[in-house]
Amino acid sequence: MGSDMRSDTVRGSTDYERILTATQRLANALIPDHPLFMTFHDGQVHDPLGGGAYAFQNDIVGPMLLALLEDEAAHDSVATRDELMSSNGLPTRPIVIDAGLQPNNSPHLGTLVVFCYAFSIAKGIRDRMRVLEASGKDIPPSVTVLITFVDTAPVKDKEMEVEGIQYQRSHRDVQDALSTYMADYEEVVRYLSMWADVPVNVAFQADFFSNSSMPVLLNYMILHHETLGRQLSPKYGSLALRSACPVPGCGLAEKHGRLNEYRADNNGQDGIITFHCPHHGPHAVRLSCPAETARLEANAPTRNLLRSMTHLLDTTTHHIRVTGADYAGVYQEMFLYRPLAAWSAITGLARGRTPHILYAPLIVDWSGAKLSKSLYIRDGAYEFMKQQGMDGFCSYARLRERFGGDGSEGLRKIWDEVQRWMADPKKLFRSFSVAYFHAIILRDVGS
Ligand SMILES: [Zn+2]
Repeated sequence: MGSDMRSDTVRGSTDYERILTATQRLANALIPDHPLFMTFHDGQVHDPLGGGAYAFQNDIVGPMLLALLEDEAAHDSVATRDELMSSNGLPTRPIVIDAGLQPNNSPHLGTLVVFCYAFSIAKGIRDRMRVLEASGKDIPPSVTVLITFVDTAPVKDKEMEVEGIQYQRSHRDVQDALSTYMADYEEVVRYLSMWADVPVNVAFQADFFSNSSMPVLLNYMILHHETLGRQLSPKYGSLALRSACPVPGCGLAEKHGRLNEYRADNNGQDGIITFHCPHHGPHAVRLSCPAETARLEANAPTRNLLRSMTHLLDTTTHHIRVTGADYAGVYQEMFLYRPLAAWSAITGLARGRTPHILYAPLIVDWSGAKLSKSLYIRDGAYEFMKQQGMDGFCSYARLRERFGGDGSEGLRKIWDEVQRWMADPKKLFRSFSVAYFHAIILRDVGS
């Protein structure tokens, strides 16, 4: 009996293998120019524990609230950790959940998941504080989401190289570039704010560089630009602070800051950064002049560092950053935590504090690589997804078309999926493939 079952299993496997191989051959024969490779699976979804999934298996909101409480206690010196835990206390400062984007395409699935996570964690924190409020005495603070547009991202086809130096033009400096996809982002943010019942604010890079702490932080960067340049840019060794050429109609900014000149004045209080335009020569930004500082731009690692510094210096508001899991790990350790520790040790600022950052699950293709919007928009990648009706994952505009109606249905399915992750937080510590999303979101949609 037992040996019969074994031979059946072996025969069944062999048949499967033959059928699947023949199916693949058939697909190759029918579509010889662009063969599609089949990935067969058993439809079983596993959420294995380990690392973050194990540690936060039951809850992510509670540990985050405790961390915020500890920040307040450390600053106000009011309580020990034990006192905090027994007080049934709530944070008193407003809580801002912070996420950002480059508006260079209609949002793709990775960006939509980050946004859904940001609004979900805001909702989760707000709801948990309401429960604690009902059982205690404290009135919870407000919870809002802040979406920051990186309108200084380079515009496609507006980049150039002169004598080995790269220059770019930013979305905010090219007419119509910014407005092309703004409506899609605004629509997504409006829906998510409504479903989470969490207010949202929107900001741009000029708002970011107008932060009241920015002159102090930028003066620190001027004094330490050589060290920071090496730390933040392994490729070029220079600090990628930029400013677009102010000559009307030009707007070129040197991408990597390799020609920048830094001058620290007045004991490091009123520094000046001089930038270089290949057509119009040098132009300067004085940190003592807010209108000029607001024109500054920074690449992702420099922006990331400055953002966390402003968050740590703000003792009136709690900030929680939500970003994609592709930034977790060595990227943050090298480009964020090491420079933050050095800054705190040198200046005495934000002593003992670290930023609060949550990493949204990565959306990956069949090979495990992240679904890349830049490959999609720049190189026309993922043609196979179009052939399978999955191009909605590369562009919210396409997802909206796919579902018709008021456009919210596809987004709503992604939102509902992220709610399932929030209810079972181990799912927040893994990646999800486009094939998985295809199964749960597009399966029932008529073509
Ligand atoms: Zn110029």
